[in-house]
Amino acid sequence: MTQLQAAKIKELKNSFSGEILLPTDGAYEGARKIWNAMIDRHPALIARCVTTSDAVHAVNFARDNGLVLAVRGGGHNIAGNAVCDDGLMIDLSLMKSVQVDPNTRRATVEPGCTLADFDAASQVHGLATPLGINSTTGVAGLTLGGGFGWLSRKYGMTIDNLESAEVVTAAGEVLHASATEHPDLFWGLRGGGGNFGIVTSFEFQLHPVGPDVLSGLIIFPFDQAKSVLTQFARFTETMPDDLNVWMITRKAPPLPFLHKDVHGKEIVALALCYAGDPTEGEKLIEPLRGFGTAHGEHVGVQPYTAWQQTFDPLLTPGARNYWKSHNFSQLSDGAIDAIIEYASMLPSPQCEIFVGTIGGQTARVAPDAMAYSSRDTNYVMNVHGRWESAAEDGHCIAWAREFFAKSQPFASSGAYINFLTQDETNRIAFAYGKTYNRLVELKKKYDPDNLFHMNQNIKPA
Ligand SMILES: Cc1cc2nc3c(=O)[nH]c(=O)nc-3n(C[C@H](O)[C@H](O)[C@H](O)COP(=O)(O)OP(=O)(O)OC[C@H]3O[C@@H](n4cnc5c(N)ncnc54)[C@H](O)[C@@H]3O)c2cc1C
Repeated sequence: MTQLQAAKIKELKNSFSGEILLPTDGAYEGARKIWNAMIDRHPALIARCVTTSDAVHAVNFARDNGLVLAVRGGGHNIAGNAVCDDGLMIDLSLMKSVQVDPNTRRATVEPGCTLADFDAASQVHGLATPLGINSTTGVAGLTLGGGFGWLSRKYGMTIDNLESAEVVTAAGEVLHASATEHPDLFWGLRGGGGNFGIVTSFEFQLHPVGPDVLSGLIIFPFDQAKSVLTQFARFTETMPDDLNVWMITRKAPPLPFLHKDVHGKEIVALALCYAGDPTEGEKLIEPLRGFGTAHGEHVGVQPYTAWQQTFDPLLTPGARNYWKSHNFSQLSDGAIDAIIEYASMLPSPQCEIFVGTIGGQTARVAPDAMAYSSRDTNYVMNVHGRWESAAEDGHCIAWAREFFAKSQPFASSGAYINFLTQDETNRIAFAYGKTYNRLVELKKKYDPDNLFHMNQNIKPA
């Protein structure tokens, strides 16, 4: 650090309510780490905000000093843009308040909240909004990219439930964006990622959910995969919006309801959640059990918050991760065959192929209503490459890429921006499709110098 920089940092510290961390500070190492251990970057300083005003000071500091700026919400994004080398990392993870108004069914959520934080506060009132399926994910990044999970068929994407947001722009202004205030910015925030500013507060619509829901897992042997996947594809095309069923194929973790001989063997899992009356749900899920001769199942009525955490033990931070993802409007035989071929060659015990079902309410919104445009997507397929040691990188990444190429002919348009890795910047325009040109225009208006470029970047030119 030069003397001038030290003086400037002191000035920033004086105006800041949160913490400014330098590499010499004890908390720095922990704060720079994110979910994906393949990303190992060292910012020059980390600004841990606790107020909107902190975010304004940090944005102004980065801009005025020509620093690369990275923004961290929950730190989960696979591409790792939450952390940069040398520049300023704005860390929002200390901003964790959730205010729920059960009368208006609205929640005001700060950008450091995880899904668990949000679900815990809203479920006290038997309310929820659609979020993702791993409770340690950040609400901020998930929402800004679109957001989908168990409730999306019934209540839409997370962004379909966003009512308004408070945003710190590249100019350091604090704007309130909604359908009536800065509606163009509000349009861009709903899918445009972190391109347009730092969101310091989200306001969501909530819906009655649970608090207990029928949910769980049914596990089939891998040698029945073709039959199970084919029936899964047909069943999910016509199931009611209250029901959601996802498919995961991987090596079986040591689940207590599976015989120990099955542990570590390839399996096909159906994960289900029914967002209505469990008695009705029981009848609707019965056909799933007949898709094959199951190894076992763990299905029952449990708190929605518990179901939201079911996958957490498989998705802990600290592993090396590389993903590839396609959207599908239909799961064709070709796609199913490709899934089975590559699931039989899993390169590590933690790799998996995930097919998340959406459709329902997510498909009833016009593709140009907001930045996220993939309204014809009924399935989001994600290849979760996941392993422990750097020595396995080449082998595991090659498997994910090969499967991605093999399944590409069966994919539909667009891609989920939140699943793109750091080497997929060439897919950004494709991911947005018909909203991309409007996003470029918006970027020119709100961030002409591309201060917010550590993201799936929409370039202003
Ligand atoms: C294990 C796992 C499971 C997942 N499951 C799902 C799922 O079920 N459904 C789903 O939709 N997605 C899912 N995702 C993807 C997830 O939505 C993205 O990784 C998302 O970006 C995570 O948000 P974050 O705040 O944790 O990430 P971060 O890495 O902190 O942020 C991601 C990016 O968002 C931007 N950003 C973050 N906060 C702000 C802010 N306040 N203002 C402006 N920009 C900001 C920044 O550009 C940042 O680089 C999953 C991810 C993981 C790792």
